[in-house]
Amino acid sequence: MGKKELDWSNIGFAYHTTEWRYVADFKNGEWQEGRLTEDPTVTLNECAGILQYCQEIFEGLKAYTTADGSIVTFRPDLNAERMIDSAKRMEMPPFPKERFLDALEQVIRANQDWVPPYGSGATLYVRPYMFASSPVIGVKPAQEYEFRLFVTPVGPYFKGGAKPITLCVSDFDRAAPRGTGFIKAGLNYAMSLHANVTAHANGFDENLFLDPASRTYVEETGGANFLFVTRDKEIVTPLSDSILPSITRRSLMYVAEHYLGLKTTTRKVRLDELKDFAECGLCGTAAVISPVGRIVDHNDIINFPSGMDEMGPVTKELYDTLTGIQQGTIEAPEGWIHKIL
Ligand SMILES: *Cc1c(COP(=O)(O)O)cnc(C)c1O
Repeated sequence: MGKKELDWSNIGFAYHTTEWRYVADFKNGEWQEGRLTEDPTVTLNECAGILQYCQEIFEGLKAYTTADGSIVTFRPDLNAERMIDSAKRMEMPPFPKERFLDALEQVIRANQDWVPPYGSGATLYVRPYMFASSPVIGVKPAQEYEFRLFVTPVGPYFKGGAKPITLCVSDFDRAAPRGTGFIKAGLNYAMSLHANVTAHANGFDENLFLDPASRTYVEETGGANFLFVTRDKEIVTPLSDSILPSITRRSLMYVAEHYLGLKTTTRKVRLDELKDFAECGLCGTAAVISPVGRIVDHNDIINFPSGMDEMGPVTKELYDTLTGIQQGTIEAPEGWIHKIL
């Protein structure tokens, strides 16, 4: 065994099969013992709950190599907890936190040759997920479920520097008030595909979704939360019950306050006040922060002062600090770095 010979900086974001993944079944009212398997396929009854009524949830995190050569993950306890919240909303049996962390550890250890080296910018993306596996035809929660966790190497999110992107204010909505916007469920993504394809066809990188009830407030994009920087360097993030609580965003807010001494505020953010912000970024596991240079609302164009060439200065400081914490070059808050090997 030894590191895989991959062109780490050019593998992109695509699925590569690795040797091992973890599977556990929920049967007879309880989670059964889990196991590692080399089989990447799933065999299901044609009437399985996931196939008919979309009962599925997932998580996403990364394993990577730090400056001192350790293999670690970042705050996986929060992914485990968020998956429990998602399960409850979807009437699925929560997968216990300790077992989630154990599955994560087992799969990363078994696939350690796939963890990209320090400095490559590439990471091993980890995908835990759970779905209804038993047959359901009348609409109700299934009796049986499968929890799985696999890994796939992914290349650096930004090649040759983080270029600001352009968003459009979507004519479609992402998450209903009192709906499922705050959980990580495949169904939220299935219904966003049309909006994404439409935005791309119109030349935009991503959608900005508004609150569906009043279409007045900013929510998030299809897969990342917003951070705004005011002209006085205050960090603002939108408040809403239908935003997915990004672990990256929560970590950046902590970093802003405790490492950079910036004021942070979570509040409703109106679409018509976006023009007053100095910088804008999108936060998520994949990119940490993607800088936003421009937002187009039909005939109205907002150009942030940070421009279309580089990240804004405060966004960059946040980005450098959090990635430094993740990579082990800046001291991390207690419990943030979960060492696997
Ligand atoms: C996963 C996800 C995010 C980002 O969350 P992280 O925990 O930072 O990766 C943001 N919005 C949506 C809708 C998501 O599904």
